[in-house]
Amino acid sequence: MSTTAEETNDKSTREVVAEAGRRRTFAVISHPDAGKSTLTEALALHAAAITSAGAVHGKGERRGVTSDWMEMEQARGISITSAALRIDYADRVLNLLDTPGHADFSEDTYRVLSAVDCAVMLLDSAKGLEAQTLKLFDVCRARRMPVITFVNKWDRPGREPLELLDEVEQRIGLRPTPLNWPVGIAGDFRGLLERDGTTYTRFTRTPGGATRAIEETLTPEEAAGAEGDAWTQAVEELELLGEIGADFDPASFMAGESSPVLFGAALPNFGVSQLLRALVDLAPAPTGPVDARGAERPIGAPFSGQVFKMQANMDKAHRDRMAFVRVSTGRFERGMVLTHAATGRPFATKYTQAVFGSERTTIETAYPGDVIALVNAAALKVGDTLYAGPKVEFPPIPSFAPEHFAVARALDAGRYKQFQRGIAQLDAEGVVQVLTSDVRGEQAPVLAAVGPLQFDVVSHRMAEEFRAPIELAHLDYTLARRTDAASAPTAHSLSGAEVLTRRSDGELLVLVHNKWRLRVIQRDHPELVLEPLLAGGVE
Ligand code: GDP
Repeated sequence: MSTTAEETNDKSTREVVAEAGRRRTFAVISHPDAGKSTLTEALALHAAAITSAGAVHGKGERRGVTSDWMEMEQARGISITSAALRIDYADRVLNLLDTPGHADFSEDTYRVLSAVDCAVMLLDSAKGLEAQTLKLFDVCRARRMPVITFVNKWDRPGREPLELLDEVEQRIGLRPTPLNWPVGIAGDFRGLLERDGTTYTRFTRTPGGATRAIEETLTPEEAAGAEGDAWTQAVEELELLGEIGADFDPASFMAGESSPVLFGAALPNFGVSQLLRALVDLAPAPTGPVDARGAERPIGAPFSGQVFKMQANMDKAHRDRMAFVRVSTGRFERGMVLTHAATGRPFATKYTQAVFGSERTTIETAYPGDVIALVNAAALKVGDTLYAGPKVEFPPIPSFAPEHFAVARALDAGRYKQFQRGIAQLDAEGVVQVLTSDVRGEQAPVLAAVGPLQFDVVSHRMAEEFRAPIELAHLDYTLARRTDAASAPTAHSLSGAEVLTRRSDGELLVLVHNKWRLRVIQRDHPELVLEPLLAGGVE
């Protein structure tokens, strides 16, 4: 019996659905120093994806490993590159997307969250919720994304577990449902007791500071004898958790209302296998995305994907531009010719890579939830859709509330044309948001960013790539609010130099110095429309 085209189709759809079902695509949201790099290594180490911790990008090694695509990146010793790490574990493919963070912050950090299905919120046991974590959590919340919480550094002195959970619930309204519980206080960590109350894993530091703690499993009776009061206290706290109903609840987890919590210590690699299990068992697999018209596209439909990040100049000699695409539906095969939805033009995918840190490997196939990097992608921009088969276009990735503003001017007036072209290109790529105000006109656009690092990228690329060096004058605004045409005259009359600006997508934005000033404006002009921008800074 010969196979019909329909049967082949069925088979390939089934394969895509099965492969998508094995994917777990997530990012870690945390404040600098909470241990994200260490946790990334620990996860990879545990899953045996790499052979020794530190091989990926430990802080100590980071300077050596830093990709060399941009001098600025090297000068700062940090990685501006956002990339994906694939971890194969328990018949699942975990795609960990890096959220570039550190002290500097950029829109890229936020955009990565539009390409994942779940987030791991990493907290330092001594610090709890910190500023950057809160900002990133806001984006997860706006997307109703499931969040798993990992309380790190339990091997060091820190806060009480109940107090930490209370902080999470009170400050961000996320209901914590612990999956395990620490025995022994932070700093005198004895081990982890699973919520079932019967599985206890004892923590023993390996002598000589090896990277992996010894995990020893004891029965409750053995544990009670070995840990004494610490055990009794943990058991009592577990009972309390049961009484207050802090049990894992799949529906509210999926809605981003409750969060399973795990305790551990990434550095000695303790409690990390439990996090891997939680990702495998609880994190959602990719589902069929919704297109710009609001229709759901089945996961097994022909290939489609969306650009969530652009990266330029990775290779100085080629000035190439790389687009990071999350596969939304179907099977990707290298060499496929795709259609770029925005222009209807074909896009060849001969050079397609999987990227992590400075390492690039050629990728042959990818499935929903995977990230592919397309080389020579100068025609693409953040939010663009690529597809095979019938046309599809996904809704744009929202731009985030900027908190930093600066006026840009061409240093050399004779190069104004190059200046304009460069600014327009960086705007289209989503490197910064470009605003114009009547006060200064188009000669001196206001650049708006989520983090100051974005300005450095603009300065660097304007000088190196467009040969139009710029001068940036920082402005004293910290907030942007959306207004409408009817409110424009009132907004114009407010004091402050730019105040009313127009973003390149046509939105009218009122720039405000700070939230106190905002309150005064709102009080004096109750009729003025001032809406917060979607998903952005904590204000
Ligand atoms: P990142 O900035 O979030 O990527 O943080 P790093 O992974 O670079 O970690 C910051 C510091 O905390 C480093 O010195 C780590 O060695 C340390 N650290 C991370 N996790 C742990 C942990 O579980 N226990 C202890 N004691 N230190 C940790």
